[in-house]
Amino acid sequence: MTAPMRPSAIDKGSETICALATAHGIGAISIVRISGARAGEITRKIAAFLPKELESHKIYYGFLKRLDGDQPVDEVLVSYFAEGRSFTGETSFEISCHGSQILVDEILRNLCEAGARPAERGEFTARAFMNGRIDLVQAESVLALIESRSPRAAQVALRQLQGDFSQALKRIADGLTWTIAHLEAGIDFASEDIVFTPPGELAKQVEGLLRLVGEILKSYRQGLILRDGFRVALAGQPNVGKSSLLNALAGAERAIVTPIAGTTRDFIEVELSMEGAQVTLIDTAGLRASTDAIEQIGVARTVARLSDVDLVLYVVDATESLVENEYFAAIPWGKTAVVVNKIDLVADRIASTYDHALAVLPVSATTGQGLSELRQWLGGRVRAELAEDCAVVSNARQFNGLQRAQESLEKAVPLMHMEESPDLIALELQTALQALYGVLGLVFDDQVMDRVFREFCLGK
Ligand code: GDP
Repeated sequence: MTAPMRPSAIDKGSETICALATAHGIGAISIVRISGARAGEITRKIAAFLPKELESHKIYYGFLKRLDGDQPVDEVLVSYFAEGRSFTGETSFEISCHGSQILVDEILRNLCEAGARPAERGEFTARAFMNGRIDLVQAESVLALIESRSPRAAQVALRQLQGDFSQALKRIADGLTWTIAHLEAGIDFASEDIVFTPPGELAKQVEGLLRLVGEILKSYRQGLILRDGFRVALAGQPNVGKSSLLNALAGAERAIVTPIAGTTRDFIEVELSMEGAQVTLIDTAGLRASTDAIEQIGVARTVARLSDVDLVLYVVDATESLVENEYFAAIPWGKTAVVVNKIDLVADRIASTYDHALAVLPVSATTGQGLSELRQWLGGRVRAELAEDCAVVSNARQFNGLQRAQESLEKAVPLMHMEESPDLIALELQTALQALYGVLGLVFDDQVMDRVFREFCLGK
């Protein structure tokens, strides 16, 4: 059985690195991070006020001095994290200085002259991974946490960072290891008179693991919504009031509203916050046959766009009778609600002829009538999508790895029921196990690591 591998040391891992950890620009404070075996010695060269004996997780106050003289650089607070108790796992310091780029540059320059080097993208997180402080899924969560644009996304990223998702994968990997061990025991000691776990039992175990993988894979949609927001397209004939509705929902004049048909040729996107998640409203070009070349392109793009959004609001004009235009068939009705706009202009309630839509919602973008019901309905959809409070697959790398594991397990189950050669079964299970190890970063793959950490910003 192949054991998971962790690289023994990273390239250049012995070097001490430094970088600005907070955002560039002016702020009340900036934080410079230093990490590595020589971090103490290097930091002391400019922070002579640090006592001989440092206590981990304590803050020290004093003035930083230039290497080439006694001139003070800044009045700072220095936090110390002992080896094994820091984010990277290495001896680390954080210098909180005044938030000026000039000061930060000066501090970094002095640290480099004292023996550190500028950190590369994501290098602090890479070191945390290399030193076994976090696995690859957790490293990706650090990135997701930095980039999260809604409270819900931040909450999920934090849970992944705390290891929820990794634990779920490890439990599956443990189950697989157990099954493989039993299968291999059967192979190795086949001739001996030992009672082994019956094949039916082992098959049941693998079926259970396959179900778990399937459940985790299903959460990818939720992961995408958390990362990219819940995307809602406003579609419909020109002049039905899509732009007006977008503005009314957004509460600001984001889209241009004009009485001339066919003016929204490009997509206008507005981000809202609903149920703690980010909702992106997309105003699309009007769906109608057109001879105008640019407008035709817009319409074709709208049709394509509707397939990849999470929800479509098909807007119709209450004063006009429903015309089944040539794009009607292109509407993905399974994820479409009909918004009947301009109800301020009609006396009677509109009879619903949209049985195949998710809902029919009467509104007036002009008077605001029905808007709170529409918002409520949208909020309900978002809530339903994010209801599962489980481990969430948050990127394509994790999804592809889990899918590979699923494929192998799907092959293994029938082989097990047919009581095929244990060698053959073990091979499939082994492939699934390796795929799971790959997701967790327990199997070292330079290219994958590179890709993951390149997405980070400097100082992380
Ligand atoms: P789009 O082409 O679908 O984006 O439509 P617009 O938002 O540009 O609106 C077309 C016209 O309908 C504009 O003159 C709007 O002022 C008008 N309009 C939009 N919504 C309403 C509504 O609820 N009631 C009334 N009376 N007029 C509306």
